[in-house]
Amino acid sequence: IANRKFHPDDTVLEIGGNTVGGGHFNVIAGPCSVESEEQVIAVAKEVKKSGAKFLRGGAFKPRTSPYAFQGLHDEGLKYLLEAKKETGLPIVTEIMSLAHLDLFNDVDVIQVGARNMQNFELLKELGHCDKPILLKRGLANTLEEFLMSAEYIMAGGNTQVIFCERGIRTFETMTRNTLDLSAIPLLKHYSHLPVIVDPSHATGIPWLVEPLSLAAIACGADGLMIEVHNNPKLALCDGAQSLTPAQFDAVMKKVTAQAEFS
Ligand code: PEP
Ligand code: MN
Repeated sequence: IANRKFHPDDTVLEIGGNTVGGGHFNVIAGPCSVESEEQVIAVAKEVKKSGAKFLRGGAFKPRTSPYAFQGLHDEGLKYLLEAKKETGLPIVTEIMSLAHLDLFNDVDVIQVGARNMQNFELLKELGHCDKPILLKRGLANTLEEFLMSAEYIMAGGNTQVIFCERGIRTFETMTRNTLDLSAIPLLKHYSHLPVIVDPSHATGIPWLVEPLSLAAIACGADGLMIEVHNNPKLALCDGAQSLTPAQFDAVMKKVTAQAEFS
C-alpha cells in the first residue's frame, strides 16, 4: 500500500489546516519535552511567529535512563492542547504504549519514535485509528524495514503516514547520529508518502541544524522537525541540541527561502 509502483501520486494530507506532502513544505517545531504549561505556550508562540506549522513536544519520553525525566504524561498532553488553543498550531506528540491511546484523541499527529519503529503491535493498532502517524526511523533500521513499518500501519486501513528520517547509528561519534540524506529521495522513490527530516536528533548539535535542514530540502524533504527550547541550558531533555527561539528564527529565514526556491 505504501509502494509508489501501485500509487504513483504523492500522498497529500490535510492536517489541522496544513497541507502535508505533494510539494508542500511544513516545519514542526517545539521542545523535546513538555515541561510546564508556561514553557510550551511560550515556545509555541515563538515558533509560530517564525513560521512553524505544527507544535511538537513529548509528554511520554523514551529516555535511556529510567532515572531521567520521563515526561509529564497526561498533564503534558493537557498543556499541549492549551498551547494549541492559544496558537492554533496542530500538535505532534509521541505515543509509547497502546495503553495510552485514549489520551491521544485530541492530538493532531501521533508520533511513533525511533525506539518503537518496529513495535509491530503498536503499529497494527495505529493502523486502525483515523489520525496521521509520524513514523520515525529506528536507530539501526534499514529503509526496507522502515517502509515495511509504514506498511504495517497502512495494512490496517490508516494510510496517513509520514516518514521521518532522524539519523542512524554509525561509527561516527562527532554527531549524535548520522543523517542519512539518501533516505529522502529513496523513500520518495519507493513510496508515495511524505518524508520529513529531524536534523536535531540526527546531529545533536544546534549549529548543524541549519546546514542539514538546507541539505534535506535540496534532497526533496517535505518538511522538518526541529527542537526549540526557550532556555536550552535548563531543558529537562535534549537541551544540548535545542535551538533558542532566536536561532530558530534565523534558521527559518534560510529554510523558507530555500523551500520556496526548490
Ligand atoms: C523525539 O522526537 O523527541 C524523539 C525521542 O526522537 P527519536 O524517537 O527520533 O529519538
Ligand atoms: Mn528530543
